[in-house]
Amino acid sequence: MGKIQERPLFYGHKISLLVAIEFVLAFSGLGYFIPYGSATIMYIPVIAAAYFYGIKAGVLLGAIFGITSIWKASMAGVSSFDLMFSPFFSTSIAGSLYIALGARILFGFAAGVLFALFKNVKINEYVKVTVLSITAHLVHTFLVLIPMGYFFPDAHIDKKYIAGSIFSINEMLQIILLTVSMCATVYISKNKRLAEIEKILDEGRQSYYTKRLKIEGAFFVLFLFLVILALMVHLHDMIIIVVNAADIELPFEARIMFINLQIQFLVGVAAISHIIGVFVTSYRVYSVYHINNADKDLMTGLYSKTTAVDYGATVINNKKDFPDTYFMMIDIDNFKGINDTYGHLMGDKVIINIARFLEKHFGAYGLVSRFGGDEFAVFVTRSLNENDIEIKIKEFQSDAASISLGDDRKVTCSIGVCHVDNEKKFDEVYKKADEMLYLVKSAGRNGYRFYKKM
Ligand code: GH3
Ligand code: MG
Repeated sequence: MGKIQERPLFYGHKISLLVAIEFVLAFSGLGYFIPYGSATIMYIPVIAAAYFYGIKAGVLLGAIFGITSIWKASMAGVSSFDLMFSPFFSTSIAGSLYIALGARILFGFAAGVLFALFKNVKINEYVKVTVLSITAHLVHTFLVLIPMGYFFPDAHIDKKYIAGSIFSINEMLQIILLTVSMCATVYISKNKRLAEIEKILDEGRQSYYTKRLKIEGAFFVLFLFLVILALMVHLHDMIIIVVNAADIELPFEARIMFINLQIQFLVGVAAISHIIGVFVTSYRVYSVYHINNADKDLMTGLYSKTTAVDYGATVINNKKDFPDTYFMMIDIDNFKGINDTYGHLMGDKVIINIARFLEKHFGAYGLVSRFGGDEFAVFVTRSLNENDIEIKIKEFQSDAASISLGDDRKVTCSIGVCHVDNEKKFDEVYKKADEMLYLVKSAGRNGYRFYKKM
């Protein structure tokens, strides 16, 4: 576990989700309050990126904000205010590049710096997020509006205009949307269960986000994209048919606009496909992780104690399916001594080999688990009677003795076995086997003992 956590976590796909959301907001129009003109909530993913993933992510999202803003401003028919954001159509190329792209990159940077500066300030997280998000939002307004007045004097953007735009209903609405969505995101991100899933995904991605899964994911996204593309081409053809049927001659500029719109639509579709692809792939990584790992002890690859105890309850509660079950407790003798004399690495090697031998002799007949430390537990649920088990125990013990410690000393184990009778709780079974184990230990270790009814 520790080893895995030391490696850097994968944030790439999470940032890519925010990028995709930004594209969807931009090209669906959801990012803009149409009725109020050019007001926007496009800066929310920028602030979210800065909050969750830092300055670089803020800058990246800011740049996407800027690029899409130029794109949308360069369409025919936009308002004269929006036109200032298009270096192709405004009166100042430098001015447009700055207010659309430069200011947004600076804004993402500023948001990242703000959150970094206040990272360790101990106040209520929601208060902090609210205050800093509104501050970042105001920084954005100033970064855009003040230079706008300078680059585009005809627009008459002066102090009065800026004050008017900051103290407006529109601005209030934006701030409410901003703080509500930021606080909601922070609230969701604090969900414990979600944090657990994320941790598993971070680990799982490193182990199971294999080439095959990536290729399958890519194919899935491509397929989705092509299906939506087909729908879109169909829609386009239908529109042209309608236009032709109405005997309307589209001017060249309108055709270009249509193509532009289609490209926007395509980018939006690609973004949505990507979002779905990330979720589907995450789900698959999560499943594979669980199948392969969650129930296993990482060091030995055996089932964990939790799984074994669950299994014990299943055995007891389903007597019909498990009519003849033995439960064994196995403990390595003087293991502390092995650790102390030969070192912990040698100790680990002994544990791993004991696990391997238990699996070899009993794996096919039930469930082998590591209960913890140098203690193991085995359920034998199939085809073996007491005699068979005795033979297998002896084979196991001779394998254990073959583990080389580098000198003559042999690895031995003590084993307690009991038959699962009419116990109501697994604890009772556990106690029986443990008592036998204890008797073997007190009798000098290196042996086994079956529980016998008095
Ligand atoms: P006994 O014969 O009575 O069982 O004596 P023992 O020395 O084996 O005693 P016990 O079972 O209590 O000792 C278990 C020791 O195993 C204690 C702990 O330091 C060590 N241990 C637990 N987990 C690991 C592990 O993953 N690797 C190593 N190397 N040692 C472990
Ligand atoms: Mg021991």
